Parts: sequence; structure tokens; C-alpha cells
Amino acid sequence: MLTVDRLLTSDGKFPKRAAFADDTIKANLALLCGRVNALLSELGVGSVRVSSGYRDPSVKKGALKSAHRVGMAVDLVDAGHAISRRCTKELLLKYQLRREDDDYTATWVHLDSRMPYGSIFKPWLESNRYLRASERG
Ligand SMILES: [Zn+2]
Repeated sequence: MLTVDRLLTSDGKFPKRAAFADDTIKANLALLCGRVNALLSELGVGSVRVSSGYRDPSVKKGALKSAHRVGMAVDLVDAGHAISRRCTKELLLKYQLRREDDDYTATWVHLDSRMPYGSIFKPWLESNRYLRASERG
């Protein structure tokens, strides 16, 4: 089960990040948690690890307008994409989520609560941070 605390600290890896989160970010995380937990429950996925949850303003990694920065995204460890492949458009729509295309998430699944729900999107390609996994060195 994901919790707001797990998402605030990326499973305890970054305990100081929680101090940056205001009520809006915490509310966003609570909403995201509920949706992702419901999706994982339907998929029968019992335990997951958070590779990246909330990113405070000091975090350099990732896109500046990333949903992670407003508490609307989570990356779950998903080597082999066993979870990601089962997150179909239909299920994403049902749980009001989107996910990033597998081509851009080498060992994780990115789920977020931004619209349009049900979409499987590609990140901004102009940033070389987001080269396809197969294009990275
Ligand atoms: Zn992500």
C-alpha cells in the first residue's frame, strides 16, 4: 500500500523532502495514492517500491514542470515492465491516471494524476534527459 509519507520521501530515501510539501501537494499525493492503490489492487500487485515520488524545488533531476514536483506522480520500481504492461488505457481511464510510455522508463513505471486520463504519453523530447532507454549510452 502506498501512503502519502512513502511518496513524500521516496520510500524514506529523502526524508527532508517532506518539509517542502504544502497542503496542496499533500492533497495531490493523497489523491494519487488512492488511485494508484486501487489500480494495483485490481492488478493483484501486493507490494511495490517507490523509486521516485515527490520532488521538492531543489531536486535537479527530471523535468521542471514534472508532475512529481506538485505531488501528482510516482515512479514504481518495475524492472521488466511487469506492472506497466498491464496498465492499459482502459484501466488508467478507470482510475483517472496516465502513465509514461515504457520506452522512456527503463526500470520503472511512471503513473500520474494529470489529464488526459487514460493516456500513455511520451515525455518532452527536446530535453536530452529523456532519450529513449535504447538511445542512452
Ligand atoms: Zn516519473
